Amino acid sequence: TEIRELLLRRIRDVADYPEPGVMFKDITPLLADPAAFTALTDALAEIAERTGATKVVGLEARGFILGAPVAVRAGLGFIPVRKAGKLPGATLAQAYDLEYGSAEIEVHAEDLTAGDRVLIVDDVLATGGTAEASVQLIRRAGAEVAGLAVLMELGFLSGRVRLEPSLNGAPLEAL
Ligand code: IMP
Repeated sequence: TEIRELLLRRIRDVADYPEPGVMFKDITPLLADPAAFTALTDALAEIAERTGATKVVGLEARGFILGAPVAVRAGLGFIPVRKAGKLPGATLAQAYDLEYGSAEIEVHAEDLTAGDRVLIVDDVLATGGTAEASVQLIRRAGAEVAGLAVLMELGFLSGRVRLEPSLNGAPLEAL
């Protein structure tokens, strides 16, 4: 479709970044193009509205850049899920495994409450580890996951397959 072409044209493949053998998807050309960035924001805001989201959660760091304008466009609050140690208030934390070692993400506990329906926004779904941890975090905060929306899904890493059980029927939309 049209939007797919518009977005694809503005995603740059960077070979061997951040390490040899990895083809990094760089979205900075898309962010620099107002037509593409606006089309992306509108498409994600439409998903927020369609899924009945009451809040938008963005995953550090590119999920902040994409999620914040979506929240404004959809008339919803924005909540950052951050890497451990960055949020000043009382947090809930969720650890998850990486290929080597582990990582931890956090959210301000008071930002999510029972009755909230959360749309999670990020740029890239790779293995799904980050998204899966954020789903757990949101549920532990008492809120419901309305859906997960990403610009792009790296299908060969099977993140969708990994996430399916934890999404519990909530949609995973990759533009
Ligand atoms: P996952 O946890 O393996 O699904 O990795 C997803 C996280 O890594 C997301 O927050 C992405 O921003 C980031 N990521 C992984 N691969 C890429 C890429 O090729 N381009 C941009 N971000 C990526």
